[in-house]
Amino acid sequence: MESLLQVNHIEKTYGKGETTFKALNDVSFTIDHGEFVGIMGPSGAGKSTLLNVLATIDTPTAGDILVDGKNIATLDEEALSDFRRDHLGFIFQDYNLLDSLTVRENILLPLAVSKTPVKETRQLVDTLAERFGITHILEQYPYQISGGQKQRTAVCRALISNPLLIFADEPTGALDSKSATDLLETLAGLNEAETTIMMVTHDAYAASFCRRVLYIQDGRLSKELIRGATSRDAFYEAILEELKGGASDDAV
Ligand code: ADP
Repeated sequence: MESLLQVNHIEKTYGKGETTFKALNDVSFTIDHGEFVGIMGPSGAGKSTLLNVLATIDTPTAGDILVDGKNIATLDEEALSDFRRDHLGFIFQDYNLLDSLTVRENILLPLAVSKTPVKETRQLVDTLAERFGITHILEQYPYQISGGQKQRTAVCRALISNPLLIFADEPTGALDSKSATDLLETLAGLNEAETTIMMVTHDAYAASFCRRVLYIQDGRLSKELIRGATSRDAFYEAILEELKGGASDDAV
């Protein structure tokens, strides 16, 4: 399978002079088309830094990132913002919806500067909303809907531009357990329909929906778990075991 994301020896150093801090240290991995990869690790391990660098929101101090063979380090600010808009989708813990816009308008936001005809974009939103069960709230505002519905809105917004890759940052962090499970099943379903997803989470249950989990510790990749043919329940147990091991390492 051809790799969609190739991360080569990434480093990220914060600060200058004697107060520098290496948040990412020689991180390399690839994500293939159609994968669902979880990124786990303790607080402060570098997960958000990694996500920000991959999502082109921040730049690495060293190393290359290739998306579909294209080296994004060589793009200027304008090209990066085009790239982000056209090829990446984002789902955040706090939804990042605009309160002054309706659900429909929020979903349309990534297409605001595109040249897609209005009739076509309307159709796109209607199709996505139906698929994710939010047709009845399209004309409502974010403050009028539940957390689960907000995250479904965010999923539709992430999908509207038909992105190559979706980044999810603790997407279940603010949801109750039923809505969290709904969302994770939605993401797994999207992945079965061949959407490539990278999800940062500290939660073993959320990670168990992934096909592969990468652990990051002190800015370095420390381990990889692959679900393979095992059930989600068995993968969940394996992740918990791994976390226990990591915790006892910390205590030494
Ligand atoms: P995680 O998401 O795994 O909790 P982060 O990527 O947020 O970890 O942070 C990794 C490390 O980098 C932490 O030690 C954090 O304090 C540090 N860090 C993050 N952002 C900055 C910044 N802007 N300036 C300095 N240090 C930072």
